[in-house]
Amino acid sequence: KLTPPCHHLSPTNVRDLFDSLDAFLFDCDGVIWKGDTLIDGVPQTLEMLRSKGKKLVFVTNNSTKSRRQYAQKFQSLGISVTEEEIFSSSFAAAMYLKVNKFPPEKKVYVIGGEGILEELKLAGFTGIGGPEDAKKIVQLKANTLFEHDKSVGAVVVGLDQYINYYKLQYGTLCIRENPGCIFIATNRDATGNMTDLQEWPGAGCMVAAICGSTEKEPIVVGKPSTFLMDFLQKKYNIPTSKMCMVGDRLDTDILFGQNAGCTTLLVLSGVTSQSTLQDPSNQIQPDYYTNQISDILDLMKS
Ligand code: PLP
Ligand code: CA
Repeated sequence: KLTPPCHHLSPTNVRDLFDSLDAFLFDCDGVIWKGDTLIDGVPQTLEMLRSKGKKLVFVTNNSTKSRRQYAQKFQSLGISVTEEEIFSSSFAAAMYLKVNKFPPEKKVYVIGGEGILEELKLAGFTGIGGPEDAKKIVQLKANTLFEHDKSVGAVVVGLDQYINYYKLQYGTLCIRENPGCIFIATNRDATGNMTDLQEWPGAGCMVAAICGSTEKEPIVVGKPSTFLMDFLQKKYNIPTSKMCMVGDRLDTDILFGQNAGCTTLLVLSGVTSQSTLQDPSNQIQPDYYTNQISDILDLMKS
């Protein structure tokens, strides 16, 4: 049995919800698209929300792309979204360093994709590693030290399809040999929809590897951490009580919204099924749930 606050979105409650809100924060995968496939009715729903003056923000834990690359992805799917409306965990990692006055002369070692490196560069930081280290193979030899750049002051770990023993050793040495080195995780999602049909290991897997070897816990900048929320709230100056976080994952999206005091809407178009939501072991209950975001449009019409 659902705990009382979780309501199925209906023609009656959709209007109250709609009228009480100034901004919608959308998670991307499982809400806007699945892999590279657009979810039905999304462009029309976003258009309707914009036409009614609602502020739209897109928050994704997938660090493989930069904001610029996400804007292109939206464009290719026929949705017009600006870079400023996108808050990716790759951007969050760079902004965390900026907000915390990370010295630009120090380097950042990246276990992750191009998106993180691009955001670091845009923020004025020097990222090393990432795709460049994909093909490096280690040969374990006696009397030979694995060398690493001692000017690395932060290690950022996100999803890395090309993780290898070289990168693991590099990141581990940076953190273990320099107690001041910052260990940042873009996100800890257990899995991600790398394709529309199947889930694959997510950044949580790479982060866990570095936790294992360093015996340290990272600073998480993606959902459900409040870092991005604080950041976007300052930018838009909208109270969180006037925001609705729409997502498909309970332990990232819904928790992110709840931690900040937003209204939360779970959509069943992604990784969470109705049975998971209603399972007695599930502790995270959104305020509302519905099948997909186009229901907002349909229910408003009915
Ligand atoms: N990380 C990776 C690598 C992914 O592939 C995905 C989803 O596909 C996510 C994170 C979660 O992204 P979002 O926060 O947009 O659901
Ligand atoms: Ca999602």
